[in-house]
Amino acid sequence: MNLNQDPLELQKFSSLAHRWWDPNSEFKPLHAINPIRLSWINNIASLSGKRVVDVGCGGGILSESMAKLGAQVTGIDLAEKPLSVATLHGLESGINVNYQLISAESLAEQKPQSFDVVTCMEMLEHVPDPQSTIAACSRLVKPGGHVFFSTINRNPKSYLFAIIGAEYILKLLPKGTHDYAKFIKPSELTHFARVAGLDVKEYTGLTYNPLTKIYSGTSDISVNYAIHCVKS
Ligand code: SAH
Repeated sequence: MNLNQDPLELQKFSSLAHRWWDPNSEFKPLHAINPIRLSWINNIASLSGKRVVDVGCGGGILSESMAKLGAQVTGIDLAEKPLSVATLHGLESGINVNYQLISAESLAEQKPQSFDVVTCMEMLEHVPDPQSTIAACSRLVKPGGHVFFSTINRNPKSYLFAIIGAEYILKLLPKGTHDYAKFIKPSELTHFARVAGLDVKEYTGLTYNPLTKIYSGTSDISVNYAIHCVKS
């Protein structure tokens, strides 16, 4: 049995799920960053025709956008409501994604080495054991395939920006969205990835300018960041 899930976290996402596709809702930041992460992933992994699994897909913002580029996408999550919202949205938009309520660990047991690309974005900081999720992502990908993770760094600046700034001052996210203790340093993520048999190729950062309200890609990984790995 897989216990790498926090029921309170899943409940939090379920209770907001009906607003997932409202670009002015709590999910506004995910809508805003999506084009940036999508083009980063697509430039590296050329998504068209690829088999992709999106781990912790939620309402499907990234999953749908990858399918739109021609990828054959499976979206998995352990929260029911976001998955129903994702499924309904797919029916409306006519974009086909295979959504499943299953953990990364269980899918990796059922379908090891089955995907060309694994994405796991903004999810690791919500699970009790991120190392287990990372290892499952590594089992899901084919040798030579690409794995992408994004999360939030853990340091005084990220506390100030990602919690105080985003949740209390700018109110970009509901209070309690993130727990500082669950943030992950790039060194920790790199260690988990290497132990899981992944080669870390690249780090990239994301910043938010509160004056222009624009997110942009940056080499600064002190707050929000993503890594690209290849399965050795
Ligand atoms: N990856 C999506 C959604 C991020 S929100 C995107 O970036 O657009 C975080 C998601 O992680 C939520 O949908 C939540 O339900 C999911 N999640 C949290 N714990 C999980 C777990 N243990 N297994 C799978 N998904 C989980």
